[in-house]
Amino acid sequence: MGFFADAPEAPPAELGFASLSLDRAAFRREDASWLNKALALPGTRFVALCKDIPVLAFDGAALKALFSRDGLESLGGIGEPLFLGLEDGAPRFAFEVASEQLEALKARQDLKLIDMRSIAMQGLFSPGLLNAIGTAKAMLLWHNRHRFCSTCGKPSDWASAGWKRHCSHCGADHFPRTDPVVIMLAVRGDSCLLGRSAHFPEGRFSCLAGFMEPGEGIEDAVRREILEETGIRTGRVRYLYAQPWPFPSSLMIGCLAEATSTEITIDTTELADARWFTREEARQILENRHPQGISSPPRMAIANHILQAFVDAG
Ligand SMILES: [Zn+2]
Repeated sequence: MGFFADAPEAPPAELGFASLSLDRAAFRREDASWLNKALALPGTRFVALCKDIPVLAFDGAALKALFSRDGLESLGGIGEPLFLGLEDGAPRFAFEVASEQLEALKARQDLKLIDMRSIAMQGLFSPGLLNAIGTAKAMLLWHNRHRFCSTCGKPSDWASAGWKRHCSHCGADHFPRTDPVVIMLAVRGDSCLLGRSAHFPEGRFSCLAGFMEPGEGIEDAVRREILEETGIRTGRVRYLYAQPWPFPSSLMIGCLAEATSTEITIDTTELADARWFTREEARQILENRHPQGISSPPRMAIANHILQAFVDAG
C-alpha cells in the first residue's frame, strides 16, 4: 500500500541486536507477586553478566547464554532481577553478577565469558537472543552508572523490575536512557561518501555518524553531522532502519542523505579521511575485493546495511 510499499517489515536478520523477539509484557513490571512466582517457574531462564561481560555456559561444545535457576545461583553474588519479558510465555530475566566474582567465573571450566561485540561478530546466538543479551547489558550498565538521584544526589533504588530507578528521598523517578545516534550515507548520483576515523583498522571506511543533539530532528542531525565532518551539504534525507547498539546504550538511526555539493573538507578532529566512492566500488568494498583493500564494517553493523541499500538501489 502506497506509504509502506518499500518499508522493510523487519530489520535485516544479520543486523546485530536489532531483532526484538521477546514480548516485554511491561504490565508485569509492577506486579511483585507475579514476578516472584515467575522467578521460580521451571521454564524461566536467566541471562547473566559480570562487569559488563555476558557469562556463557558450555553445552557440550556449544555455548548457551540462558541459565536455569540453579545454574544462575551457582554463579554467586547475583543482584536484582531485571525482567526482560516473555519468550513463548516463558519468563526471561537478566542478572548482574557481583564484579568480585569475575576471576572465579573465568576460572570455571564449564563457563566462558565473551564480550558482547565478539558474541555479535561471531553470530553465536539467534538474533532474538542477541537482542535480549544486548538489552540486558545496556540496562544493567545504566543501573551501575545511575545509582544516585540526579535531582537530589541521594542513593536511588531499583524499581519496576529494573525498568526504573526511584528516589525515596525526593520522590523522583529515573528511566533508562537511550542515546540516539544518526548514521548515514551521503549519496550523489552514482557515488557515496564514506569516511574513516583514525582509530579504524587499516583500510576500513564507513558511514559517517554522530550523536543527535537536543532540539534536533533526525534530518537536522544527519545534515549537520555530514556538513561538520566533511563540508558536504545535503538536502533530502531518508530513514532506512535502526539498530540498538549497547555500547553502552545508543540507538543507531540509519539514513541516506542526498548530497547537493561535492567538495570535501575534512574535520580532522573527527576523521582521518573521507572520499567519494562509486557504486561499483561500494559493491567491491562490501564483497571484500576493492583493489585498494578498502573494507566496510561487518554485517552485524548497520553501516554495512546502509551501504548495501545504496548498492542494491543501483
Ligand atoms: Zn532524589
